Parts: sequence; structure tokens; C-alpha cells
Amino acid sequence: MQHPLHIAVIGGGASGLTAAIFAANEAAVRNRKVNITLYEAADRVGKKILVTGNGRCNLTNEQISSASYFGETGLFDRIYPLFDRDKTLSFFASLGLLTVSDEAGRIYPYSRKAASVLDALLTECARLGIRQSVDTKISSIRKTPDGYLLNEDIFADRAILAVGGKAGSAKQHTDGVFSVLAAAGIGCAPFYPALTAFEIKGFTKSLKGIRAAGELMLSKNGKTLACAAGEIQYTEYGISGIAAMELSCYAEPEAIRNGAYALTADSIPAFAFSELRAHFEKMKKSRPDMPAIVFLTGLTPKALAQYFLKESETDPQTPLGDMTRKQADGLLGLCKAKTYPVGALRGFENAQVMRGGIRASELTDTLQMKKMPGVYACGEMIDIIGTCGGYNLQWAWTSGAVAGMNCIREIE
Ligand SMILES: Cc1cc2nc3c(=O)[nH]c(=O)nc-3n(C[C@H](O)[C@H](O)[C@H](O)COP(=O)(O)OP(=O)(O)OC[C@H]3O[C@@H](n4cnc5c(N)ncnc54)[C@H](O)[C@@H]3O)c2cc1C
Repeated sequence: MQHPLHIAVIGGGASGLTAAIFAANEAAVRNRKVNITLYEAADRVGKKILVTGNGRCNLTNEQISSASYFGETGLFDRIYPLFDRDKTLSFFASLGLLTVSDEAGRIYPYSRKAASVLDALLTECARLGIRQSVDTKISSIRKTPDGYLLNEDIFADRAILAVGGKAGSAKQHTDGVFSVLAAAGIGCAPFYPALTAFEIKGFTKSLKGIRAAGELMLSKNGKTLACAAGEIQYTEYGISGIAAMELSCYAEPEAIRNGAYALTADSIPAFAFSELRAHFEKMKKSRPDMPAIVFLTGLTPKALAQYFLKESETDPQTPLGDMTRKQADGLLGLCKAKTYPVGALRGFENAQVMRGGIRASELTDTLQMKKMPGVYACGEMIDIIGTCGGYNLQWAWTSGAVAGMNCIREIE
């Protein structure tokens, strides 16, 4: 009689849950007896899914391509077609979970509740007989003649690593697993936070609390790297918000330490400088008595207007009629392009994802680890991250499904 294989899925997040479900389905198709257990260090599986997308879970995007990813994008291009966005949506629909897109192409559960996504996955895990071992942190993985021994007392014929990264506010448990990989000589790209905020050198606290729509440009040694539009949030340490988070993916810690990066904020992106100047000239003519602060607060939040006036050494009460062309250009120039020198990236606790992780050269195109046969990897622990918009969860679903299916398909 065929003995059931024990498949250990290490990490019960988005990718681990998906991997467990696809391994169980593949085993059923192939009439393979398996016991699948999710080993989760936290007291319950899927906790992070609940906080994604501000509790609404932006689970994928209408536009998925490697252009929205960083790191090992070649591996992404090879793996993504195997379980792409459409297959992901069909999978969730088969679990009863319908979805809806917003105007920016971000896809959410129809309920707009992250809990719906987790419930659907957990219900499917239960239906397929997938076991859960919570409060079980895996810190060692040792090869034996027949398979692998986890924490020296859990035997697994095959294992799927799905421990995620170091980002997020919850306590992280990944170090043990990454130490195992390092000891096995498995190459990982250096880890650092991404989708996080920027600390600005000598940042003024007077801007703290301002939130305004705008556009940010990240430059390195004066050369533009990327631009992003969205809400700019000014904090006590620097600049946050969706646009800053997106740009953080382009910044590397070494270059930050060398003072190479700067962020430039366009606080009035809807109008070109020439249009703003024309507007100023018109107002100066029609309302020469209008104080500069009143003029500016018609364009930006008042606190930002006050800051630009201070920076350009203009008294807020200066009537427009008394302002010279040079003075007006200086002020409007700050509104269109105020440059802030980047001091640091915010740490892992403020980040949504981790850059770095397992290099593509360590994996087959079925996501098996070349130096640990029978062990697969998926999710954020591979050196692939996406920008904001559902791209990271899409990678978790894609890589989880591919690792789960292949873990069964590749059994001799
Ligand atoms: C606040 C926040 C909001 C986000 N919003 C979005 C969003 O809307 N859309 C999007 O696409 N992405 C979002 N992300 C990113 C996304 O959540 C992650 O990329 C995704 O969850 C990664 O899935 P994963 O399975 O690889 O890792 P995780 O979801 O991190 O799961 C890893 C699991 O492994 C467990 N674990 C770790 N180490 C061990 C160990 N040694 N032994 C046993 N278990 C272990 C962890 O406890 C965890 O449960 C967000 C992230 C954060 C922090």
C-alpha cells in the first residue's frame, strides 16, 4: 500500500495557503495519498492577509506585467503565465469569492473585506483536509536519507518554504529559515525594506500632518530615476504616502548612505509652471491687494503654502501687486519642484514588503531549490517584489500555486 507522503508547508501566509491548496488538489488528481500540514509560527494562519489593502485586500491588478516588479523579473516572466491573474480570479471564483476593480485597476474582493479572502482560503484548506500546526516556528531543516527533518522532530517527505519577508508590524519569524538557507549555501540578495517611506535630512516638523495630492520624482545623483503620483503624506521624519512607497522600490541602501538620492515634490501637478505664472499675473492684475498667502492657499494646503512662503523669504501678507516677477517665480518654482535630500528608508516595521531574498539561480522553473531537492520556495522570500496595487499578493498566489502543484508533480 502506498504510504501517504507528508508535505510540510512552512508559513501560513498568502503563498503558503495557496501552495497547500494546490498541492492537495494536484495529489487528488494524481490519486496520490498525502498529508499536508501548514506550520505557522504565529497563533493563527493568514494574519497578514487581514491587514492588506487597509483591510480590503487588494489581491491583484488589471495590469500585471514584469514592468511592475523588481528583483528577479526574468523568473517572474517564466512563472507568471503558469498561474496568471485570470487563473487567480477563476480560482477565487471557484471558492465563491467574487471580485471588483476600482478606477485604477486594483482588484478587491467584492465584499471589500480582506477577511472574505482569508475565509475562502481557510474553508478550502479545511475541505481538502489540510492540517494546521500554529505556534510552530520552524528554525531548522535537516536533510535525512528519506526526506527532511524540521526542528529535529517533524518528518517531511517534501517541504514548501513560504515564510515571507521581514516587513510589517507583526513579530517576524523568518530568520531561522534564512539561516538554514545560508548554511546550505543558497544565495540570497541582501534584504532591505521596500514600499516604505523616506526619511528626509533636516526635515522641517512644520509640514507634519499635511496630506496632499501631488507627484514625486526620485533622482539619484541628479538623474531622474522614476516618478509617481498620489497622495503625498508629510510626517515628522519625512515623506510617506503611496507615491513615496512606490518610489522606495528604486532606492538602494548603499546609495542612500552615500547621499545619492533626492525626492522632488510637485505640489500642483495639474498645472505647468507657465500656466501657474499666467494665473499669478492675472490675479496680480485683477486683485493686486490679495495677500500672497491667500493666493497660494487657492492652490495648495495652507500649511504647505506657509512653508513655501517661508522658504522663499516672502512675507505671507505681501500683496500680489508688490511682488516682483523673480519673487513670484521663486515661490511658484517651489510649488512645482521642492527638492528634499533623502536620509534613509524607513525600517521593516513600516514597510509593506522586503526586497532581497532567494536568487533565481537557486531555483528551477518549478520553484524547487536546486541545492535542497524536494524543497520548494514561494512568495516574498524569493527576490521578487511588486509595486503598490495588488502585485505582491499576485506573486504570492502565482508562486504558491506553482510550488504547490510541482511539489506533487515532480514526485518520481
Ligand atoms: C500593511 C501591509 C499591507 C499590504 N497590502 C497589500 C495589498 O493590498 N496588496 C498586495 O498585493 N500586497 C500587500 N502587501 C504585501 C503582501 O501582504 C505580501 O507581499 C504577501 O503577504 C506575501 O505573502 P507570503 O505568503 O510570501 O508571506 P506572508 O504573508 O508574510 O506569510 C508568511 C507566513 O509565514 C509565517 N512564518 C514566518 N517565519 C516562519 C517560521 N520560521 N516558521 C513558521 N512560520 C513562519 C509568518 O508568520 C506568516 O504567517 C501588504 C503588506 C503589508 C505589511
